[in-house]
This record gives sequence, structure tokens and C-alpha cells, in this order.
Amino acid sequence: MSTLAQRAGKAATVAALHADAVDRDGRFPEEAMAVLKAERLLGLQIPRQFGGEGAGLTEIAQICCTLGQACSAAAMVFAMHHIKVASLVGHGLDSDWHCRLMERIAREQLLVASSTTEAGTGGDLRNSICAVETTGDLFSLSKEASVISYGIQADLILATARRHPESPSADQVLVALSRDQVSLERVSRWDTLGMRGTCSDGFRLEARDIPVVQIVPKPFAEIAAQSMLASSHLLWSSVWFGIATFAVDRARAFVQGEARRRAGQVPPTALRLAEVSNALQAMQAAIVTALRRVEDLHGDADALGSIGVSVMLNNLKTSVSDMAVDVVQRALGIVGLAGYKNGTPFSLGRPLRDIMSAPLMIGNDRILANTAKLLLVQKSGGQLMSA
Ligand SMILES: Cc1cc2nc3c(=O)[nH]c(=O)nc-3n(C[C@H](O)[C@H](O)[C@H](O)COP(=O)(O)OP(=O)(O)OC[C@H]3O[C@@H](n4cnc5c(N)ncnc54)[C@H](O)[C@@H]3O)c2cc1C
Repeated sequence: MSTLAQRAGKAATVAALHADAVDRDGRFPEEAMAVLKAERLLGLQIPRQFGGEGAGLTEIAQICCTLGQACSAAAMVFAMHHIKVASLVGHGLDSDWHCRLMERIAREQLLVASSTTEAGTGGDLRNSICAVETTGDLFSLSKEASVISYGIQADLILATARRHPESPSADQVLVALSRDQVSLERVSRWDTLGMRGTCSDGFRLEARDIPVVQIVPKPFAEIAAQSMLASSHLLWSSVWFGIATFAVDRARAFVQGEARRRAGQVPPTALRLAEVSNALQAMQAAIVTALRRVEDLHGDADALGSIGVSVMLNNLKTSVSDMAVDVVQRALGIVGLAGYKNGTPFSLGRPLRDIMSAPLMIGNDRILANTAKLLLVQKSGGQLMSA
């Protein structure tokens, strides 16, 4: 039986083979997805009683990192799928319908997409304009979903909306919609600098006469605070760490080549390589520390939703996303023109363009503004061993 690392390695090998074509054509990484499904990696996090493997965030994060070194888009699709699955695992266990859904995800290897972003609210996850409209046991939803990654390829979409047409914008629910229950009219194309293979087009999403049991029973405020903040910031960061690692590996190979050419001399770029490996290690330490803290709190909803943990996770996202851009840029500085050119063994254009999305994927300033508000009411700064 293959280990998790071997299964992820198979997907990464295929993802790497197609990464340039996925980027160039802005197409979905279908070859990598086929291996992820064949290796049963989409159901990894689902509890064993529902046919999954009960994996924790650390194992998923490790795979995000492995894939990130191969194809940023495949890695981000895998991360986003598991962020959504984490919401179901963390908050759907009291609902028979969502338990059956988890069984289907594991059995059929269903791909889950996310619709939080809306025209008019942007990256403001905790406010919605659209609302669920309920009649008896059924509801309808219309959403101007300005970004849904792999919306066309997904089997399921988890969408946020206000609970009721009269609800305030922050009184939200999370609804699970299977692809055959929604109509997606494409309103914008994802023709971007990087992360092109996530195929994050904009859609007008319409769903009619959906059973109300498909609404996740917990308020979205709880889901966001107790699972989504942690899973998104940890798994995104792991993808970005993978991309940065790929860039540093290329820089290292370049410097080693220089050293071989000039036997007995240390190339001047070796010093820069030492610096960038230091920065990469700092990134890794930040992610591992945050992962450990979240895993230690597993099941403690109050602690996971606390101000201290929210601040820690926000800080992780803003710092790791900036560090990742810096690391890839430094790697390019080491490699020079061979990194700037496409089609060389040291090309860094694709990872550089991909990593530029990190600080924007929920704008860092928006996150910092949120952290600033939390810090106004936080009581103490914490201890060395609890960050
Ligand atoms: C690769 C990728 C995949 C994505 N996939 C999905 C997906 O599948 N589903 C989905 O729903 N969304 C997705 N998104 C969108 C993402 O979740 C955010 O909604 C999006 O990044 C916000 O984009 P925006 O720049 O238009 O942000 P806005 O939130 O509109 O912000 C615009 C600018 O204003 C700044 N700003 C906003 N508020 C404040 C504030 N209070 N204080 C200071 N500055 C502020 C921001 O920092 C930013 O610079 C994806 C994004 C990326 C990059």
C-alpha cells in the first residue's frame, strides 16, 4: 500500500508535466486532478465512518506544499477543495444530509468549489448581499459570484448568502449546491497574470427549489471563525511555501552549476542563496508553528474562534504571502536572465506570476484592518510556546 507521500508524489509528477501548458492556456489542471481522484486524495479529510481517511490539516498542508512545487494551480485547487471539505467536516456532522454528502465526496471523489466573493463585497467574506429565499422546505438563491475557481469543473459549490432577505449582511449561512442544481452564467473570464489554471471565472449563480436541508445548520459566522479561517490561511500558505521552495530549488541548482564551472571558487550568488534559504526557513517555521497550534486545539471551537488564534492566523496569511513573493523575487535575482527567460531549466516567470496572487487573495490590507480591530480588544500578547 502506498504512503500518503507516494500518492501525493504521483499527482505532483503529473502536475509538473502539464504545469506550463496549464499556465499558458489558462486551463484547468485536469491531468493532475485525475491522479488526485485516482489516488483518492479528495476524500482524505472525510472521517473514516463516512469512507474517508480522517486526515488532519497537517497532512493536507503537506500535500499542498508537494503540489505547489509542481503546479501552483493544481495545488491551489486541491487546497480550496479541502478548505470547503473542512467546513463540512467541522460543522456538518449534526446534519444527516451533510453526512451523506461527505460519504459521496469520499466515494465519488467529488470536487468542491467555493463561492464567497460577490460583486459589491469583494474579499469581505463576512458580509453577503445575496440572500436565501425560503418557501416551505425549499429555497432559491441568486448570486453575482464574481470569482468561483473551477466553477465549471466542480461537482459541488459551497456558497455564502444572507440567511433571509431581511437579514443583515453579516447574518450568513453556507449552502451546499450540487452542480446539477445550479445554473452558472459566465460573466467574466479569468485571464490573469498568474494562477491561470484555477479558472476562477465570474458567474451569475442561480439555484431554484433546493431542499433547505442543504443549508449547513451552523451560522456561517461560526464556520468562518472556527474552521475556515484556519484551513484557508494554513492551506494557502502551504501552497505558497511550495511555490517558494520550487523557486529556491531552481536558484540552488543554478548556483551549484556555477560552482561546478569554477572549481575551487564559491560563486558570489552563493551568499544570496544562503540568505534566501534563511527566508524560506522562516516561512516554514511560521506555517509549522501555526499548524501545530491549530492541530493542538482540534475540536475546541471556542479556542479556535478566539481573538488570539484569529490574530495569529491573520498574521500568518499576511506575512507568509509577502515572504513568498520576496523569496521568489530573490530567487530570480540569483538566477538572473536564465530565470527571466521562459523555457530554460531555471525559468522563474511562472512561479513569480503565480505567487503575486498571494497578497491579493483576500487583500492583505483588508486582513490587517481586521487584525487591527481585534488587537483593540485583545487582552494579552501570549507566551513564547503558544505564539
Ligand atoms: C487565485 C485566486 C482564486 C480565488 N478563488 C476564489 C473562489 O474560488 N471563490 C471565491 O469566492 N473567491 C475566490 N477568490 C477571490 C478572493 O477570495 C477575494 O475575494 C479576492 O481576492 C478579493 O479581490 P479584490 O482585490 O477585488 O478585493 P477587495 O476585497 O474588493 O479589495 C480591493 C482592495 O481594497 C483593499 N481593502 C479592502 N478592504 C479594506 C479595508 N477594510 N482596509 C484596507 N484595505 C482594504 C484590499 O486590500 C484590496 O487591495 C480567488 C482569488 C484568487 C487570487
